[in-house]
Amino acid sequence: MEIRIHGRGGQGVVTASKIIAEAAHFEGYYSQSIPYFGAERRGAPVQAFSRLSDKPIFRVSQIYHPDIVMVFDLSLIKIPEVLSGLKSNSFAILNSKNPLSVAKNVVYVNATDIAMNNNLIASGLPIPNIPMLGALLKTNIPISYEAMLNAIEQYFGEKEETFKAFEEGFKKSKLARLKFKKRKIKRDIDIRCELPVSYPCEGVAGRTDLWRFVKPVIDANKCNKCMNCWLHCPEGVIMESEDAVVINYDYCKGCMICKEVCPRDAITAVGGEVQCIKF
Ligand code: SF4
Ligand code: SF4
Repeated sequence: MEIRIHGRGGQGVVTASKIIAEAAHFEGYYSQSIPYFGAERRGAPVQAFSRLSDKPIFRVSQIYHPDIVMVFDLSLIKIPEVLSGLKSNSFAILNSKNPLSVAKNVVYVNATDIAMNNNLIASGLPIPNIPMLGALLKTNIPISYEAMLNAIEQYFGEKEETFKAFEEGFKKSKLARLKFKKRKIKRDIDIRCELPVSYPCEGVAGRTDLWRFVKPVIDANKCNKCMNCWLHCPEGVIMESEDAVVINYDYCKGCMICKEVCPRDAITAVGGEVQCIKF
């Protein structure tokens, strides 16, 4: 299950995504939380992605076809990406007094009011993430009230107003089944077909091999050149040469995603590599 959250800097988008992942973990699922910042400042649009699955999750991309989209600030729905990729059975959770026909299943709640009434305010602005997490439970997400509450407590400690905001978000949110016609959004492209090819090069921080403390080494005898590692390497440093799959160690950061996704167990993490900084 894939959940995409849209909001603004300061609304607790990234925190909500982490809490969802934590709650899913309490339920026995594998889970993942990925933040995505544009300009890192209050008020700027922010996205975060959560995934949960009963199997290990190898996908580490953004979410393009969410099962659930959460919108913390209604003014954002003017941005085409916010509602893009919704499936016919997807849920939209809106911080809104009224339902809007943006999906077939719409959960709506006035999370801003709930946040203000419970003093979830930072620098004068309400933080709607906790009541929105309450509303999330009105969807088909396989997370119980208790697991979500535990995850919230884990993050914030025992805070009565936070628990109350969560409870109110759950109780006051409503599910509407609406007639929904999938809108053709101009920029709604399947980005997977449009991935630009880029090559690693030295940036302002210099070569990224200095970040690495373990090194992925490919066993050519096991490798069948399926290129799954190439597909998943976030640095684009895996290449196919004439007779082998090779890694550009000048830029490999040692994240070991390649090792995780290799179906032939052909990649080993070699530790203890000493790095030298040349001045
Ligand atoms: S994923 Fe494994 S088997 Fe496939 S190309 Fe990479 S190293 Fe080889
Ligand atoms: S360790 Fe990470 S950066 Fe290095 S080759 Fe593997 S996936 Fe790419």
